[in-house]
Amino acid sequence: MLQSLVGVFLGFAMAFQSWGFIMPHQNPMDTLILVNKQNKAPSVPLMLVKPNVDPVEEKISENIYMRPDAAAALEKMFEAAEKDGLKLYARSGYRSYSTQKAIYDRKGRQESAITSVAKPGYSEHQTGLAMDFEGASTLGMGLTEAIADSPEGIWVAEHCWEYGFIIRYPKDKGYITGYIYEPWHVRYVGVQASTEINALDVTFEEYIVMKRGERVVYLEQEEMIGEENFADNVFSVSDDGSDAVQSGDTGSGSYGKRGGSTAVYREGMELPDSLRTAQDK
Ligand SMILES: [Zn+2]
Repeated sequence: MLQSLVGVFLGFAMAFQSWGFIMPHQNPMDTLILVNKQNKAPSVPLMLVKPNVDPVEEKISENIYMRPDAAAALEKMFEAAEKDGLKLYARSGYRSYSTQKAIYDRKGRQESAITSVAKPGYSEHQTGLAMDFEGASTLGMGLTEAIADSPEGIWVAEHCWEYGFIIRYPKDKGYITGYIYEPWHVRYVGVQASTEINALDVTFEEYIVMKRGERVVYLEQEEMIGEENFADNVFSVSDDGSDAVQSGDTGSGSYGKRGGSTAVYREGMELPDSLRTAQDK
């Protein structure tokens, strides 16, 4: 099965280097929800719980909430690391739109196109499925690439898929993910997806195209450049972060866009039925 996934993907790899895409009408409760520079986080009330793990420091202990499925998986992963003699700490889980806005206003505006700070509304942390962690050996150094070479970072990179997590922003994949290498940022996708992503060694964006190509709306690269990207035109974004999907027929060959040009929708690639999950109906 993984072989055929790779086959499907290879025919598609080139498209990735020059095309961005959006996933219209995502189910906000889906563990495979895609949030990136073109795909906005849904602003729906989330059920959030605080995982029973140690925060980096007590004063940020309210910053580590996650969705219940992700929180339970995180607890298991942290416990497993501890059994292997490694101590992990949680730094940042769920972030609200307004928290992300404060971070972006402080840091994000100065940064270059490939950055580590998402625009408010476009942070994966807003899904409740992401966590930034630190390990005992780099504690106090903040979120730094040194985590990748630390025993804890190496352990997480090797084992996180067993608990349903992926390293969401791998090294040298910024041209796909839109973000610099973030060895500290894990994303819960569920064990089936994490197992496949690990075996295929692909980014989450690539995986989504493989699994759900027929629902992808491709963007021409020029659409992605600049402060106002396509997603701003597809979604109406209000200051409080609430959004509403504009009506658009995503299955008919084109996708309407406010404000002028139109992004091309390519008819989806054919995937074997065995690759379609229950969530794909
Ligand atoms: Zn993060």
